[in-house]
Amino acid sequence: MKEATIIGSGLVGSLWAIYLAKAGYKVEIFERRPDMRLTKMSAGKSINLATSYRGWKALDEVGIGDEIRKIAIPMHGRTIHNLDSTLAYQPYGTEGQAIYSVSRGEINAKLMSIAEENLATKIHFNEECINVDYDKGIAYFKNTQTGELSEHQSEVVFATDGAFSAARYSAMQKLDRFSYSQNYIPDGYKEILLPANADGSYKLEKQTLHIWPRGRFMLIALPNFDGSFTCTLFMPFEGHEFCFNDLKTKADVTSFFKIVFPDFYNLMPNVADSWDLHPLSSLAIIRCFPWTHNKLALMGDAAHATVPFFGQGMNCGFEDCSVLFSLMQKHNEDWPAVFKAYEIARKPNGDAVQDLSLQNYLVMRDKVSDPAYQLQQKIERRISEIYPNHYFPLYSMVSFSDIEYKVALDKGNLQSEMINDVIMNNHITSDTPQEQIDTIIHHLFDQNPVF
Ligand SMILES: Cc1cc2nc3c(=O)[nH]c(=O)nc-3n(C[C@H](O)[C@H](O)[C@H](O)COP(=O)(O)OP(=O)(O)OC[C@H]3O[C@@H](n4cnc5c(N)ncnc54)[C@H](O)[C@@H]3O)c2cc1C
Repeated sequence: MKEATIIGSGLVGSLWAIYLAKAGYKVEIFERRPDMRLTKMSAGKSINLATSYRGWKALDEVGIGDEIRKIAIPMHGRTIHNLDSTLAYQPYGTEGQAIYSVSRGEINAKLMSIAEENLATKIHFNEECINVDYDKGIAYFKNTQTGELSEHQSEVVFATDGAFSAARYSAMQKLDRFSYSQNYIPDGYKEILLPANADGSYKLEKQTLHIWPRGRFMLIALPNFDGSFTCTLFMPFEGHEFCFNDLKTKADVTSFFKIVFPDFYNLMPNVADSWDLHPLSSLAIIRCFPWTHNKLALMGDAAHATVPFFGQGMNCGFEDCSVLFSLMQKHNEDWPAVFKAYEIARKPNGDAVQDLSLQNYLVMRDKVSDPAYQLQQKIERRISEIYPNHYFPLYSMVSFSDIEYKVALDKGNLQSEMINDVIMNNHITSDTPQEQIDTIIHHLFDQNPVF
C-alpha cells in the first residue's frame, strides 16, 4: 500500500489526510499535542474562524462539507459599531452569500474524527517532530510525555505543523538558497468571550460579523452556537494612545472599554474580569521558498502563515489540499513533478493572501467607517448588481470565488483605482440619485465592457 506521513493534525493536516486516504494512501499523522477530543477545550483556544468559498470547495471535494456545515453559522455582512454607538450594516456580497463562523476546536476535532474513520489512517498524539530527512522521507519524533525517540519512513512527508513548523526549521531552512522571512506586525490580539443572555439568546445580532473600527485598532465578534460571541481585540502592543502595554490593571481595562467601545461595555460591564482569561498573542507573516524538497512538502501555515484580517489562512490551507490533489491526479502521483507544479502554482498565491490580509486590516479597522470607502463600496455593489457576470468586487473574488488570490489582488486594486476615478470625474457623492449613478455605470460599461 502507498504510504504518507503527515506532521501535525491541525486543520490542514487533518483535511489532507482525508484527501490522501481517498487516493488510497495509508496515512500516519504525528501530532505534538494530546488528543483535543479527550480534553475539554480551554477557553484560550476558543477562536472561531470564518470559512468561505475556497474552504467549502475543498471540504466538498472530499464529501464532508455538509458535516461541517452543521457546526457553521452564516454571517451575511458586517455590522459596524460606531463610537457614538450607532450601527451600520454592510453586506458581504449579493443576496444569499455569506461567510461562516466555525469553532476552531470543533472543526479540527471533526476533521480528525472523519480522517480516522478510514482505518488506514492513524493519528499518533504527543509526538513532536524534531527533524526530517527529506531525501529518505524519514521524520523523527520525540514523545512529549515519555521522551522516547522514534522515526517513521514513507514515500512522501507533508509538514502541516503550522506557522512555526519544526520540519521547516530543522530541515528546509538548512537548504542552500532557501529563502525565509518572519515579520511580526506591531499589533497583538486578545480574546474576550461575550456570554449569552441568561435565557441563552444572543446579545448582538447573530448572523453578522461585528466590528468596532477605531482607526488604529479594532474589536471584532463572531457568533457561537451557544448564544455567546468570541470577540477579538486587535491593537498595537505599544507606542499608541491606546495599546496593550498600557492596560495594566482592571481599572485601565474598564476605562478603555468605556471610552472606546461604549456599547460593548454596556453589554459586558465586567469585561475587566475576563481580561486575564486569554493570553495576549502576537501576529506574524512568514514567507519562504521553496516549499518542497525531494520527499518533503510544506502546506498551510507552515508554507504561508499570515495575519488573520481577511479570514483566509485556513481557507488558503484548505485550497492547498484541493490544488495538490488535482496535481496528484494530473501528474499520476509522480511526486517530484507534483511537488514542482504545486509550489510554482501556490507560492504566488501564498504571497498574495499575505498582502491581502495586511491590506484588509486597514479596511476593517479604519476604512469601513470612512464615508469615502462606503461610497466606493456602494458603487461597487451597484455595478456587480447590474453586471453580475462581469464585475466582482475584491472581497467577493477572495471570499466567494476561487479566482487565484494573486489575480484577485491585482484586479481588485485596479478596480478600486478605477472606481475612485469614476467617483471623482463624475462628482458622485452619497446624495447622488441612484438613476444618475446607474446611467454613469451603463456609460462606463458601454465604453469599456471588460472594466
Ligand atoms: C486570531 C486568528 C484568527 C484567525 N481567523 C481565521 C479565519 O477567520 N479564517 C481563516 O481561514 N483563517 C483564520 N486564521 C488562520 C488559521 O488559524 C490558520 O491559517 C490555520 O490554523 C492553519 O492551519 P494549519 O493546519 O496549517 O496549522 P495549525 O492549525 O497551526 O495546525 C498545526 C498543527 O501542528 C501541530 N504541531 C506543531 N508543531 C508540531 C511538531 N513539531 N510536531 C508535531 N505536530 C506539531 C500543532 O499542534 C497543530 O495541531 C486565524 C488565525 C488567528 C491567529
